[in-house]
Amino acid sequence: MALLFLLCHGSWAQAQPALELVDGVSQTSLAEYTQYRHDTNASDDTASAFRRLAAGEFAPLPDGRHEFGFRDGAYWFHVSLVNRNAREPRWLLVQRYALSDYIDVYVRYPDGRIAHQAGGDALPFESRGIGYRHPNFWLDLPADERVDLLVRVQSQSSMQVPLDLYTPTAFIDLSRDAQLAIGIYYGILTALFFYNLVLWLTLRDPSYFWYLFHITAFGMVLFTLNGLGFEYLWPNSPWLADKSVPLSICLALIGMLQFARTFLELPQRWRLGNNGTLALIAFFALLAAAALELPYRISIQIATKAVLFGVAWIAIVTIVVLRRGYASAWLFFAAWALFLLGTTSFTLVAFGILQKTFYTEYGVQIGSALEMLLLSIALGRRYSSLRSENERIVGEANLRLERKVAQRTQELRGTLAQLEDAHSRLRDSSRRDGLTGLYNRTHFREAFEALLLDSRKDGRSLSLLMIDLDHFKNINDQYGHLVGDDCLRWAAHVIGDTLRPHKALLARYGGEEFIVGLPGHDLASAAAVGETLRRQLQQEPCAVRGHQIRMSASIGVHAVQPTKDVASSIDAALMAADLALYSAKAKGRDRVCTSNPALAPM
Ligand code: GH3
Ligand code: MG
Ligand code: MG
Repeated sequence: MALLFLLCHGSWAQAQPALELVDGVSQTSLAEYTQYRHDTNASDDTASAFRRLAAGEFAPLPDGRHEFGFRDGAYWFHVSLVNRNAREPRWLLVQRYALSDYIDVYVRYPDGRIAHQAGGDALPFESRGIGYRHPNFWLDLPADERVDLLVRVQSQSSMQVPLDLYTPTAFIDLSRDAQLAIGIYYGILTALFFYNLVLWLTLRDPSYFWYLFHITAFGMVLFTLNGLGFEYLWPNSPWLADKSVPLSICLALIGMLQFARTFLELPQRWRLGNNGTLALIAFFALLAAAALELPYRISIQIATKAVLFGVAWIAIVTIVVLRRGYASAWLFFAAWALFLLGTTSFTLVAFGILQKTFYTEYGVQIGSALEMLLLSIALGRRYSSLRSENERIVGEANLRLERKVAQRTQELRGTLAQLEDAHSRLRDSSRRDGLTGLYNRTHFREAFEALLLDSRKDGRSLSLLMIDLDHFKNINDQYGHLVGDDCLRWAAHVIGDTLRPHKALLARYGGEEFIVGLPGHDLASAAAVGETLRRQLQQEPCAVRGHQIRMSASIGVHAVQPTKDVASSIDAALMAADLALYSAKAKGRDRVCTSNPALAPM
């Protein structure tokens, strides 16, 4: 049975057909024609590998798939090739996966000659057949000769061996298209980078900084995964080519988590989520440091799994914040969902769970480009919502301020009015005589000055009366000063009442003397008013504190002749009236005298 099995197995293995490169075929995948063997100890040399091939120990690719996940040892792949196209003697073998460490290609010709080429990112970039991001090898395939192609791959990274054959022209077409697609992707990233860099520099919102950090680190991850990091950034450092993937993955995750923290305002919105995110950031920082020392196989597996966890964590945090009513988070969530989809498919390919197709291989690129675009929009929206919030706060503050100002203005107006009132009362009291309530002589001078100016302007006459109570000292002496005061008040009252119809200016000049300005009165009519006053005062006795006191007054009258110098005309008029009063006293008191003796009193 064992023999039968071996025979069957052997004959079946032998039955694996050769790939015929017929006229018209310019590129082809080798998967369908590939047999493989897992050399678990990586102990076989070429000779023993060919022996095992002959012994039928190679098996077809399981379900035609060439992804095996992270594996120890070496993998051997075999394809029989017959080139039926005499015009294409040279073909290019390309492995569409950039990260394999060691790739050894053996071509055995019918004459037994074996040609060997070495590649993979453990060797400097310039050892490649063509300076291209994926490992590649030139194969000489003479027409109609059956050759055995044996490829040995050993790598710390995920075991992915998608092998394709191209004619030189077909390869140019492929690399041109791929280069354009890659250019578009990194073009988007670069544009987003500079656009957001300018925004960050002008707005100084930390979200923008972490977003920049995130796209830079993430761009670096893909740059490395696509094999471009090795091609352009560190072509002579296989060590960096080895460390750059886990390192940039950790940095990208740190950037993403920080960005999520600031964008979603986690410290304010969800304390627990914030702490969890900080813990994850610390974990990735540690892993980044450890990745420098750990073997690639270990660090990349931890990092790849942690990416899934980190991205899922951000999705959870976003949902929580969204449910807590942060509207801007939904764009963030949509962006993240796309990214999650892309990253998940890529990771599942890396672990050999999912088959490599255009969408799974470039899922990360497509997902992340859309994610970063959406995030950029989300940042814009966040900024505008922050701004309108700001405007609302400023508006409210302004309104409060306006109300306060209005209230203060009102209070100030009230205070001003009170002050004005107090001031006018003060001014008035400074012009009044405390005992009689009449104006004092200070006010009289000012007011009489105005009367003088008026009379000079319209030519109306103006007279001055000087009134002095007779023998007033005797009243004080006889009844006391309090009664004297009452008598003064009484006399002021009588004089004021009598003058009311005349629009006179009345003031207490001092002591028991009163002074009167009479506008519109010439000497004669002023003397008549003086006479009425004299009679009123003398007519009735003053009744105070149970006493009936008879009083009389002497009155001097003068008609004012206004001159240019107002002050001197006042003084002159006062002197003239005083003289008239003096003559009234001299003539026996209780009489009216004028400054012009020709005019006799009535
Ligand atoms: P004559 O007829 O010559 O004017 O006699 P007289 O006593 O009125 O004149 P004199 O100038 O000698 O005296 C004025 C008096 O008026 C002296 C003073 O006691 C009194 N007197 C002045 N001011 C007041 C006052 O405010 N209250 C009281 N009670 N007496 C006053
Ligand atoms: Mg006197
Ligand atoms: Mg007197």
